[in-house]
Amino acid sequence: MSQRLVLASNNAGKLREFSQLFKPFAIELIPQGQLGISAAEEPFDRFIDNALAKARHATRISGLPAIADDSGICVDALGGAPGVRSARFAGEHGSDTDNNQKLLSLLAGEVNRGAHYVCALVVVREADDPNPIIVETRWNGQIIDEARGQHGFGYDPYFYLPELQMTAAELSPERKNVISHRGQALAQLMEQLEKDPFFSEA
Ligand code: IMP
Repeated sequence: MSQRLVLASNNAGKLREFSQLFKPFAIELIPQGQLGISAAEEPFDRFIDNALAKARHATRISGLPAIADDSGICVDALGGAPGVRSARFAGEHGSDTDNNQKLLSLLAGEVNRGAHYVCALVVVREADDPNPIIVETRWNGQIIDEARGQHGFGYDPYFYLPELQMTAAELSPERKNVISHRGQALAQLMEQLEKDPFFSEA
């Protein structure tokens, strides 16, 4: 019998990526929109709290287990900003270009260019699950002033990886998926799901 798992997101890219990874698990992933579930509020300052809120919201309404993620970029010289506000850094309807412009203007003249991406992933088996499966990963880099690379999205053209001498936007999508914050988080989540009787015996 296959286990149904609600994806607490309606992002088509995320659905594709997660569906691929869940194939070996006999887990059927259902985007929450398909069940008429609207997006949850994301009021918290920590990625993990927002991911947990999204997953609990989807489970409470659907009665099914759910998976949610939250991600963003934290810049050292900005005290960790934009953090959970990465998507809407330059305003509710700001574009990636607007967000990057704001970031670069705040960093003008700044020598400390350290930054990291964060990805939090949460799986709840039931709405009040006291022991959700939780993974949080970080991907370290530096913010540079000139855009480099054509792949990726968001802050990737300015997110430089010194050990690879490339930006995240210069990595092929396949390579980025393995080493990125999201790739690392999904790999760790899969390890945990394999050990979890709720999923491995479904
Ligand atoms: P969300 O997890 O879909 O809410 O995305 C949060 C925001 O963080 C995105 O809109 C991007 O601005 C930023 N972000 C998260 N992951 C990445 C990434 O891999 N590359 C570039 N930007 C990212």
